[in-house]
Amino acid sequence: MPRKVTAASRKLAPAVTARVQESKPQTPKDLDTARFAAILDEHIDSARAKIDTVLADIREVTAAAKDTPADDEHDPEGTTVTVERANEVSMLAALEASLVELLDARVRLDDGAYGVCERCGEPIPEARLEIRPEARFCVACAAAARRR
Ligand SMILES: [Zn+2]
Repeated sequence: MPRKVTAASRKLAPAVTARVQESKPQTPKDLDTARFAAILDEHIDSARAKIDTVLADIREVTAAAKDTPADDEHDPEGTTVTVERANEVSMLAALEASLVELLDARVRLDDGAYGVCERCGEPIPEARLEIRPEARFCVACAAAARRR
């Protein structure tokens, strides 16, 4: 049974890709692009501010680590610093990835290719775009993509 499902989804994949390439997504006519431009800009600004904060934190942690001698006595503290820095760095990576998504969505908006699901071609509900203005997929397709 699981083997059959895998074969079926493999067969389906190229067809889905082809359909996406055929028609360029177009921003739904009734979408208030000015409003979503403002929402996107707001999200972009806040992502940039968060990145600046995390970068400052990393600099602080790194500077603090330099002042801490790396002897056995300070080892527990050293580990804390390392873990803290690793957390900050992975947070930074996540923030940068979401900033890239937001900037890409901003470009799509200017291109007139915004607010349409890249998988099924249906308009993405505005309520979803208000929360995730960088969304590329409708809820159903996003869920389907996560299951793959
Ligand atoms: Zn969809």
